[in-house]
Amino acid sequence: MKLIDLNRDGGIGANSLFVQLGDLNILVDCGLHPKKAGRRATPDFSPLRGRHLDLIVITHCHLDHIGSLPVAMRDHPSAAVVMSSSSAMLIERMLHNSANVMMRQKEEDNIPDYPLFTHEEIERCGKRFIPLPFGQAKKFRGARDEIEIVFHGAGHVAGAVGVEIRHKHRAIFFTGDVLFEDQRTLAGAKFPAGHFDTLVTETTRGGTDRPAGKTRGAEMARLVAAINDCIQRGGSFLIPVFALGRMQEVLAILHDARRFRRLVECPIYASGLGMDIVDYFDQISNASDDVELHRIGERYGIRVVPG
Ligand SMILES: [Zn+2]
Repeated sequence: MKLIDLNRDGGIGANSLFVQLGDLNILVDCGLHPKKAGRRATPDFSPLRGRHLDLIVITHCHLDHIGSLPVAMRDHPSAAVVMSSSSAMLIERMLHNSANVMMRQKEEDNIPDYPLFTHEEIERCGKRFIPLPFGQAKKFRGARDEIEIVFHGAGHVAGAVGVEIRHKHRAIFFTGDVLFEDQRTLAGAKFPAGHFDTLVTETTRGGTDRPAGKTRGAEMARLVAAINDCIQRGGSFLIPVFALGRMQEVLAILHDARRFRRLVECPIYASGLGMDIVDYFDQISNASDDVELHRIGERYGIRVVPG
C-alpha cells in the first residue's frame, strides 16, 4: 500500500489522500481549502498526473472534503465515485453553493481561476455518483486486483462515513472526520471492532484532551444562558455556524430550550444554505436507513430570512 497526502498545507484544508492498493489507484476525499483562493485552494494533484484513477471515495459533504471533486472528476472521467446514500442526497446542493460562492469571489476578489467548475458540470458529475448504504460491501476491480469497501457511520454530519477497505488479506480503515458522541440531530460513530492493519484518522482534536468538566450538556446550558443574558439586556445574539450539520444542531438545541421554557421569549431568524439543508435533513431522515438522523423538530417560530 502507498499513501500520499495531497493536502498542500496539512491541517484543515483541501483534504485528499491518494492511496494505491495493488494496481488500484484510489482518491479518498477531494476538498477545497476554505481560506485559500484559486488553484492554490485545491489539493496538489501532481502525484496523479499520468495515472489512471480507478475510484474516488467521499467520506462526507463538508467542502474541505468535496470542494474540488468536480475538478478531479474532469481530470479522471472514468473514475467511479462512491459515497454514502445520504451524502449522495446532499452533495450536489453543497457543490452548487460552492460554485455560487466562487462566482461571487471571482468578481469581488478578482480571482481569475474561479469558478473551478460550473453548475452544468456539477449536474454531469451527479450522474456518476454511486450511493452505497452503510454496512453494505461493494467490490471494485482494477486490471489485476480487487478491493472491497464497506461504509460505517462516523457521526460528525449526516452521511459521514468511516471507510473500511479490504485488499487481499489486509484491512485498512479511514475514519474521515469522526465524532463518537451523540449529537442532538445525529447519532455518534459506530465503527467496527476487530483487527485492522492500517488506520488513517483525522487529528483536529486528536492530540488535545477535552478540559475536565467540559461536557456537551454543560456547554449547551452555557449557550442558552448567554443568549438569555444578552436578550434580557436588550441585545441581539448572532451565532455564526457552518451550514451543514452545525446549523441544524444549533436550531434543534434552541428549539428544545424553547420547548422546555429555558429560553427567553425572542424571535429566531435563520437564512441561507443552512435552512435549505434543514429540508434535506428531513428528507434523509425519512428516506435513508443509513443515518440515525433525528428530525430537527417542528420548525415553528424560526423565521427564514432570504439569504
Ligand atoms: Zn467535516
